[in-house]
This record gives sequence, C-alpha cells and structure tokens, in this order.
Amino acid sequence: MQFHVRFPRYFNSDAAEQSSRNVLLDSVAAFKRDFGWSPANLRAHLDAYEKLLVSLQMHHTYFTLKCYVNNQDTVSKQVRNQLNDSIASVQARVDRLLIKPDLIKAAGKETKYHYLVEQATQDSGHRLSDKEETVISKLGDEMIAHLAERYDHLMDSIQAGNKSAILKNPDSVLRRTGMLTYYAAYDRHGEVFAGTLIDITGQKTATAKLRGFNSATEMTYQNSLQLPEASVKKLLTELSKQSGVLGDYQRLLSNQVSRATGLKQVHSWDTSLPIGFTAAPMTFTQARSLILTALAPLGKEYIAAFARLLDPANGQLEIAGGPNRMTEFTSVGFPGVPESLYMKSFSGSEREVSRLAHEGGHAVHEQLMSDHVTVPSYKNGPSFLFEAYAIFNELLLIDELEKRAQTREGKAHYTKMFLDKLALEVFTSAEEGEFEQRLYDGVAAGGIHNRNDIDTLYAGIMKPYDLYFAGEPQRRSEWINKRLLYDDPIYNINYLYAALVSCKLYTLQHQDPRGFAIKYTALLQNGFDAPADDLLKKYMGFGLDKDALLKGTLELMKNKTAELRGLLK
Ligand SMILES: [Zn+2]
Repeated sequence: MQFHVRFPRYFNSDAAEQSSRNVLLDSVAAFKRDFGWSPANLRAHLDAYEKLLVSLQMHHTYFTLKCYVNNQDTVSKQVRNQLNDSIASVQARVDRLLIKPDLIKAAGKETKYHYLVEQATQDSGHRLSDKEETVISKLGDEMIAHLAERYDHLMDSIQAGNKSAILKNPDSVLRRTGMLTYYAAYDRHGEVFAGTLIDITGQKTATAKLRGFNSATEMTYQNSLQLPEASVKKLLTELSKQSGVLGDYQRLLSNQVSRATGLKQVHSWDTSLPIGFTAAPMTFTQARSLILTALAPLGKEYIAAFARLLDPANGQLEIAGGPNRMTEFTSVGFPGVPESLYMKSFSGSEREVSRLAHEGGHAVHEQLMSDHVTVPSYKNGPSFLFEAYAIFNELLLIDELEKRAQTREGKAHYTKMFLDKLALEVFTSAEEGEFEQRLYDGVAAGGIHNRNDIDTLYAGIMKPYDLYFAGEPQRRSEWINKRLLYDDPIYNINYLYAALVSCKLYTLQHQDPRGFAIKYTALLQNGFDAPADDLLKKYMGFGLDKDALLKGTLELMKNKTAELRGLLK
C-alpha cells in the first residue's frame, strides 16, 4: 500500500515554490521594517500579519512534508529551519508591538483580534529583545537540540531486541531473559544517558530563568496547560494517592495471567500476553470503514471531513513504507494551507489503526478550524486539548471494536485494551509528569548529579504506582527509554490532562448521544480565541476543575475494571 500526498496542492513545482518564497521573504523583511503601526491602522496591520503567517506556513508545510518523505534531504531541512526562524521572528515582532499602550487601548474595541492582543499582553513580562532571543537560540536551544540528537543516535545504535515481540513470546523463560537482555543493553550506557538528561534539564532551566520564570516546569505549564505550577503539583499528588485504582487493575490482570499460564510469580513482562483472542491485521480499506463507523457519534460534519482525509484520491495522505522516511506519525496544516496526514508506515495492526484514528483526528480538527476560524492564529492552542480530542477518538474506536467482538474473549480483549489505554494516558503520564517535575526541581536545587541519583528518584516514584516494580530492579533505569524526556521535555504532562478531558468527553457522549455531536463540532470549529477553560465551559458545560475531572476518570477506570472482572470469570 502506497499513498502519497499531492505536492501541487501546495506548489506546482519546486521552481514555483522558490520564486514564491523569494517574494514572500521580501514581504517579511518589509513587514519588519514597517514602524507605522497606529491605533487607526491596527486592524489592517494585523490582517497583513495573518496573511504573512498563512503564506509562511504554506511553504513551511511543503518542506515539512519533503523532510518526512526523505530524511536525507538536508536542503529541505535547511529551508524549513529558515522558515521556522522567519515565522518566529514575525510573531515576536508583532507580540512586542502589541504591548504598546496606545495599541492595547485600540485593541480593547477590536473584537476580531482581541484575544491575540490579550495573549501578547499576558506574555509581555517574559519577552526578551531580538538580540537576547538570538543568544538563547544559539547557546541554549542549539545545545538542547544537540543533546537530543546525541540521545537519538545512541538509542538508534543500541541493539536491544524487539520489545513487543519479546512481550508476546508464549514462553515465560524467553520473555524474562528477553526483557533482562533488553534492559541490560541500555543499562551499559546509563551514565551517558543520565548526563544527557541532566544537561537538557539544566539548559531548559537556565532558558526559563532568562525569560523571567522561576523554573522550566513553571514556564512550560503556563504555555502548554495555561496552569500555575502549584495546580499541576496538586494534581500529581492527588493521583499518587489514587494509585490503588491502577493497582486493582494490575492485580486483576496478574491473577488472570497466573491462572492462564500457571506462573506463580507474574512479572510486568507477562501481562501483555493475548487473553484468548488475537485480532487479524486490517487492510487500509477495512480500517477506514471501521474508523468512520466508530466516530459516527461525532456528527456528520466531522465524519465527512474524516472520510475526505482517508480517501487516497484526495492526495492528503502520505502513508507508505520504504527507506529514508522520517519516523513520524502526524498531521500538518494551517488555516488556508492544505491539510495532510503523514504516517511512516501502516501495518494494519490494532495499534496502527488506533494511531490512524488519533493522528487523523488531529488532521480533522485542524481541517474544521481551517474551515471556520476568522483569525488563522486561533488555530494554535494548548497542546493538551489537541491530544484530548485525539485520545477521545481512540476510546470510541475501542468501543466499536468491543461492540463488534462476537465472543467473550474478544470482548475481554477490547475491555483490556480500553483499560490499558487509560492506564497509559492517566497513570503512566502521571508517573512521567511527577518524574520530570522532581527531576527539574532536583537539578535546579543541585541535588541530582549522576545516574544513580536519577535511578533512585525514578524508583521512588514508581514503587507506589506499580505492583511489579519492587521485584524488578532492572526497571530502575526505565527512564532511559522515555524518548520524550529528551526530545520534547516536560511534554508528558499534557497527556495526563488530555486523558482527563477525553474521559469527560467520552462520558458526556454516552449520556447524551444526540446533543453531544452538535456541541462538540462547534467546539472544534471555534479554534482558540479564549483560554481552554472558557471554551470548554462555553461549548461543553464543564471546566478544567481537576478534582471533578479526576473523579470522573477514576470512576470510568473502576467501572471498566469491574466489567473486565466479569468477563474473565
Ligand atoms: Zn497526538
């Protein structure tokens, strides 16, 4: 199966792209030289700014896709980085202009751009000069990128065996030795990984402080969650008190494995065995039809957009095997720029079908915003909400699979899949979130220096969460395998908040199947012209009250665990 995006949706040829880019970069330069912003022409300037952004994104998306299909294409990579810099510099310039008192005053009467100005004002205390930004970019950001690259190269060079194949091996001795070999392969490089992680942490902290934040975590939570650090810490503490909900599920599985295999002591690596049911891989056509049925509760407009996306004839899909393809699964798009979905490959396994529902969900969300937002910048919002909508798709997909299953074993398999998804998004994200929080605190306070310090920190967090952890000392260095810690620091916490919101959406959809789709579609189409909390309250009737959301999520997990218990009897 080979689906390729139609590049002429962006530009007819490389030559056409280049000449268009030359003109565009001249306009960018002119825009940056324009000092004639006044209350009277504020709207005209912002209109011009948004138009520039759309054009820049058009070129940026074109090169992003070029990089994805050929990771050896260094020229495209270079141009993409230049475009990135142009976008950032135009945005920074506008943000700086918008904090001028006379413009703020004019913006008060401006309905269309009100939120754009409000955001610029809010961030103003943390804004640096162009010169300072250049220094941070050259010293801090480049060093972080370099450290992440070192991590990626070392990881790629380690031959540890295929983890998912090891976990599916029916022989318990081979599973055990396979996993011990797997951990040992990474363990040998533990000190290098620790040094890399500590240095990334130190760099992120220094950068955040230069921007006037107390810590890197404070800065990131504000930017991606719109929440103060104290609130995030409180949720993490609350979750660690509720680890028994995960424990109940782990015990249920452990007992089931013990009964099915005769193993007296069950290990974490024994719990991924199929429970009397294995799904056959799906063709793309089957996956497409399944996804469209599963997501039908989200309404006609949503499904129509998804159907268009998944129709290869429309040239929006880039899904093909082959060499030199970037390991990525993601959507790219912007209002006024054609939407595309890139997947490195598609095997038709349940995991990949779920991934298609998730990443396709990002693409459809972007498409709905593209079709409706009045200001292209309002496409940008807090990451956790994007993830919440995509995870919600995965939950609905599992629901549909469970509904279609003919046997008790099949139903148990999908109920377990649902629970594994919740366990991962809620509890694993909580473990990782707490680990990063304490790692950043510890490094800043000068208390974390080496691999042993990190192992100790990680083990202390994991023990109360994980039934098996105490008996598996090799897992103390599991943090090595958590790529996001290096490639996208302090991102994991987004999945926790996303899971809480997606569980709420899931519950609401089940309570009110008819009314839900209309409200939800309106929410997605709206984009982000207000804080997440306001948008959720306005369209869905609930806010980001973490206690209520957590309660609902744990309730769902308990109910599903009880369901599985019944099916396994
Ligand atoms: Zn996602």
